[in-house]
Amino acid sequence: MSERVIPLVDQRLQALRAAVPALPVAATGLVADTLGRPLRDLRISVTDRCNFRCSYCMPKEVFDKDYQYLPHAALLSFEEITRLARQFVAHGVRKIRLTGGEPLLRKNIEVLVEQLAQLRTVDGEPVELTLTTNGSLLARKAKALKAAGLHRVTVSLDGLDDATFRAMNDVDFPVADVLNAIAAARDAGLGPIKVNMVVKRGTNDNQILPMARHFKGTGTVLRFIEYMDVGASNGWRMDEVLPSAEVRRLIDAELPLVQLDPSAPGETAERWAYADGGGEVGLISSVTQAFCGDCNRARLSTEGKLYLCLFAHNGYDLRALLRGGADDAELASAIGHIWQGRGDRYSQLRGTLGADTGSGGRRVEMSYIGG
Ligand code: SAM
Ligand code: SF4
Ligand code: SF4
Repeated sequence: MSERVIPLVDQRLQALRAAVPALPVAATGLVADTLGRPLRDLRISVTDRCNFRCSYCMPKEVFDKDYQYLPHAALLSFEEITRLARQFVAHGVRKIRLTGGEPLLRKNIEVLVEQLAQLRTVDGEPVELTLTTNGSLLARKAKALKAAGLHRVTVSLDGLDDATFRAMNDVDFPVADVLNAIAAARDAGLGPIKVNMVVKRGTNDNQILPMARHFKGTGTVLRFIEYMDVGASNGWRMDEVLPSAEVRRLIDAELPLVQLDPSAPGETAERWAYADGGGEVGLISSVTQAFCGDCNRARLSTEGKLYLCLFAHNGYDLRALLRGGADDAELASAIGHIWQGRGDRYSQLRGTLGADTGSGGRRVEMSYIGG
C-alpha cells in the first residue's frame, strides 16, 4: 500500500493578493505572459465536491466524512463566475471548460452554462463551452446542458472491466452507467465526445487495449492521460506512471496508428489516427513530455482564485477584488497584469529541479482547481 500524505497546510486558506495595477492593462484580446504565451483557455472549477473517490484524485483516506469542503458562501455565484469569465474572454480566452470536483453536482449548473453561452470572443464568435464529468449524472442532464448552450463534454472512464473501474472510483460505480451516459450525451448532440482514461501502471494498464477496441470507429475520441503528481494526497510514485510512448506502442502493435497534426496551439493531447480510418486517440503525456512551451490555460478555483499552472502552490484572490467592489475594467486590468507576470512551467522543470519547483508550500488538489 502506498504511503498517503495528509496535507498539513490547507492551501485554500492561502492566497496571493490580486491587485489593480497602477498602470492599467487594457483588454485587447491578446495578453502574453513572460514566456510569450497568450491566454486562450479558461478552466473553471464549480465545486470542490465529488461523488467519486478516485484514488489518484480524492482518496478516501483524505476526503473522508470529516473533510472540510468549502462553505456555500465561499463559492463564486454564477453571476460572479460569468462576470470574471467575461474579462478573461476580453483578454483572448476562446474556450471555457467547466470542471471540479464533479461539476454536475453544482445545483442548476445549466443556468451557468446559459450565462456563459452568451459570451462572445473579441472576434464576435461564441466561446467554445465544454465540461469534464465522471458521467454519473450526465444521462439525466445531457439534454438540459445542450439546450443551455454547452457544446461538448469530456467523460472520464478508467476501464471497461467493471471490477477494475469500481475499485478505481472507490464508490462501486458501474461501467455500464458511464457508457449509458456517453450514449445519452451523444444523442443530445454533445459530441464529438472525448473520453479521458488515467493510466496507472499495475492498476488499469490492462484496460488500454479493451478501451481502444471499444471506442475505435465510434466517433468518440479516447485520450490516455499519464498519472500525474497533482496535489499532495494521492501518494504519487513515478513507477506507477505508464509513459504515453508505451501506451502508443501497445495500441500500435494491434491497431496501427499514424500521427496527426495538433488541432490547435497549446493542445494538451498528441493526436494519433487509426491507420484504417477508425478515428483517433489522444495521448496526454503530462509527466514524460512537458507541454508548457505553449500552455495557454488559466484556472479559476471554486472560490475565485486564479491559478496560472495546474501545479501552482497559490492562486490570486480575484473574489476579494470582485466582492471589494472592483468594476469590470479594474478586474480585467488585474487579470491582465497577473497573466503578464506568469512564468510557470512546472512540467518542463520537473525533471531538472525535482518535483518541487514552486515558491514553497503544498500544491493544490486537482479536485479543487479542476483538471
Ligand atoms: N470529476 C470530473 C471528472 O472526473 O471528469 C472532472 C474533474 S477531474 C479532476 C478532471 C480530470 O482530471 C479527469 O479526467 C481525471 O481523470 C483527471 N485526473 C484527476 N486526477 C488525476 C491525476 N492524478 N493524474 C492524471 N489525471 C487526473
Ligand atoms: Fe471526482 Fe473526477 Fe477526481 Fe474522480 S477524477 S475523484 S470523479 S473529481
Ligand atoms: Fe501548463 Fe503548468 Fe501544465 Fe506546464 S505544468 S503545461 S505550465 S499547467
